[in-house]
Amino acid sequence: MNVFRNYINGEWSESRSGKTFENINPANTDEIVALFQASNPDDVNDACAAAVAAQSAWEEMPATRRGEYLFKAAELLESRLPQLGEEMTREEGKTLPEALGEVKRAINIFRYFGGEGSRQFTYQVPSERENVVCYTIRKPLGTVALITPWNFPSAIPAWKLAPALVAGNTAVLKPASLAPLSSYRLVEALHEAGVPPGVVNYVTGSGSAVGDPLTSHRSIRAVSFTGSTSVGNALYQKVSERKIRVQLEMGGKNPTIVLSDANLDYAADTLINGAFFSTGQKCTACSRAVIERSIFEPLVEKLIEKTRKLKVGNGLEQGVQIGPAVDADQLKTDLEYIEIAKKEGAELLCGGNRLTGAEYDKGYFIEPTIFSGVSSEMRIAQEEVFGPVLALMVAEDLDDAVRIANDVKFGLSASIVSKDLTRVHRFINRIEAGLITVNLPTAGVEYQLPFGGTKESSYGMREQGPQALDFYSETRTVYLKYTQ
Ligand code: NAP
Repeated sequence: MNVFRNYINGEWSESRSGKTFENINPANTDEIVALFQASNPDDVNDACAAAVAAQSAWEEMPATRRGEYLFKAAELLESRLPQLGEEMTREEGKTLPEALGEVKRAINIFRYFGGEGSRQFTYQVPSERENVVCYTIRKPLGTVALITPWNFPSAIPAWKLAPALVAGNTAVLKPASLAPLSSYRLVEALHEAGVPPGVVNYVTGSGSAVGDPLTSHRSIRAVSFTGSTSVGNALYQKVSERKIRVQLEMGGKNPTIVLSDANLDYAADTLINGAFFSTGQKCTACSRAVIERSIFEPLVEKLIEKTRKLKVGNGLEQGVQIGPAVDADQLKTDLEYIEIAKKEGAELLCGGNRLTGAEYDKGYFIEPTIFSGVSSEMRIAQEEVFGPVLALMVAEDLDDAVRIANDVKFGLSASIVSKDLTRVHRFINRIEAGLITVNLPTAGVEYQLPFGGTKESSYGMREQGPQALDFYSETRTVYLKYTQ
């Protein structure tokens, strides 16, 4: 059995607790992927102390050289791509092609932010005064805490670590306990790339024993969190007292609007991709389809036909399109929401059950599920399930569709399927979402553009793209007179 250690001050170390926890394959619960350190607040103190000690030398290093560590780590990760993809499928359950795609994305993120070492634009503007130049510089914040979820166990740690480091911050990463191996591999690659001791620290363990003391630690200058709305909101309450910078990426209830002019096959495929791939366990997954009445029946027919053909199973098997729920709790949540929807009067069109028999009995498999007759006041239309459950809603026209789409507290992503440019533009202008897609699923974003939501989905500055650096650096303004 592999036992993975924490990474503190450039060394792999066991937790002071002397305890470990299991990382279990959700497609085959007989398989323990590995053991990880069940760390405690003492480990957090050690990691923070190491990061603080490494800060000044790291921030004084030219940013281009900081970027080179990311380039080198990207190379190492690329050379291990097949192994890393397979490990991700084993620990998180997503299919192998999805896992390989995610590792590739983490590699691209390292390369992209490696390049930011030679950009990190600031600006100079004319002064009102003679012989004075005015410009801005960026300063790193110091030691930052990075808290990440299980559903993108490589890409999300990568898109926090890379901009944090290249901007000159030192970091303590606490990954999700359900999938800590993928981010371990990122840290391992940074270590092998020669990142100086203390610059990156990795501490595994529960939210209460590691996440909470880390975000509360007095040496932490910023917190970047991705996870559930409930944990994010509680974290914000605590952190805001200290007035440090905080960035929260949380839940969604993302709609896809399908207008009457849409190609119905294309629309059905777009909905299936957004709602069911990755088992619906994407913050950007589509959980509501808002469909114009005139095409509702024929589109639903196609949707059901295609959904019934989807292959659910162990993500390592070829041809499997949907893996398991990540653990017993998530499966329970999915099934509970299915019962709630039925009780509230939604009509179950397909799916709705845990899959059993043969290999299914060893994992947390669930049928992709579609409900019709859903109205805005139902919980299935308002609350994030985080599973392969799609709610169908009827709209009379575009105005009605946008009203329904916006009638939730979330605002992460939203999409529309239509060839009508005028109506598409109206949608873009009026939809309440940070990520807007047209003729594409709600999920599937790229690293070179800003990522984040509006309303209760997100708080703070954007991640990814050039804007990511804004969160991890502070602007200072310089007025310099070059005569006396
Ligand atoms: P979660 O339960 O909120 O956990 C997220 C992270 O926070 C984990 O590392 C968790 O540790 C840690 N944590 C738990 N309690 C904590 C505390 N008191 N203080 C500090 N950290 C604490 O979320 P999840 O179940 O991993 O992820 C699913 C959620 O993430 C969904 O709601 C999804 O929408 C959201 N998500 C959002 C985005 C986005 O960009 N908007 C992207 C991906 C996922 P443990 O694992 O040890 O509990």
